[in-house]
Amino acid sequence: MLQGKTAVVTGSTSGIGLGIAEALAREGCHVALNSYTDTDEDQAIAARLSADHGIKAHYIQADMGKPGDCMRLVETAAADLGPVQILVNNAGIQHVEKIEAFPPEKWDAIIAINLSSSFHTIRAAVPGLKAAGWGRIINIASTHGLHASPFKSAYVAAKHGLVGLTKTVALELAEFGATCNAICPGYVKTPLVEGQIADQMEAHGLDREAVIRNVMLERQPTKQFAEIDQLAALAVFLCSDAAAQMTGQPVSVDGGWVAL
Ligand code: NAD
Repeated sequence: MLQGKTAVVTGSTSGIGLGIAEALAREGCHVALNSYTDTDEDQAIAARLSADHGIKAHYIQADMGKPGDCMRLVETAAADLGPVQILVNNAGIQHVEKIEAFPPEKWDAIIAINLSSSFHTIRAAVPGLKAAGWGRIINIASTHGLHASPFKSAYVAAKHGLVGLTKTVALELAEFGATCNAICPGYVKTPLVEGQIADQMEAHGLDREAVIRNVMLERQPTKQFAEIDQLAALAVFLCSDAAAQMTGQPVSVDGGWVAL
């Protein structure tokens, strides 16, 4: 049922975004890939998805920290690939620092990229979803959209805001055949996290298993990372007819973290 629909996935040259873009391509969606960079590698990812899945995949450079770029992403995707019916707001950055030392420019960047970009892309996409009478918006929030941790003020504020935005958009779209949900991952095994394991082993003088269990996954009851493929499968489900009555939900994939 997703065959031939156009999906935009922000921040999709690596990690969770790339996993979701690939899963949607596997379902037959045309996909607009995005990041703020403009490299041969970015274009190569689009070419690979297109060749592997027989769909149209375009890489569109756009900085999700800039409102005009957010709107241009949606407009260009629609012009290149057809009306945008699936929007996955995934681009995100992090900075960890105690609040009195937190650089104001990092606060602004995190709020812009992790929260405001979703407002701008949704604002640009909603008229098309309403006109089509069908749409799916998925915002990649975090357990930090529901729970706080110290030293992550901007990230926690942005992700809580994103969950609030998700609920509001869901209500506004409720009678238009379009849903808006948030996925709230706990710790996910991305290339970035994989790199952090080695750093933490050195910093704490612990072996890999101890770092994963006692440092990184201290608050994740299963003591296992969520996997990119699990998040991608959930995103595909949220796009399916089976999820038509799920809207305004923060859906956790966190090994039980929010049950604590
Ligand atoms: P990642 O760093 O692997 O990917 C982030 C993507 O966003 C990259 O493609 C990057 O190029 C892109 N990006 C960054 N700044 C951008 C900008 N200004 N404009 C456009 N694109 C930009 O990270 P990830 O771990 O896959 O995270 C993806 C999302 O999932 C983020 O929103 C993150 O907050 C969320 N998340 C991740 C975890 C985790 O454990 N990895 C847990 C919870 C939530």
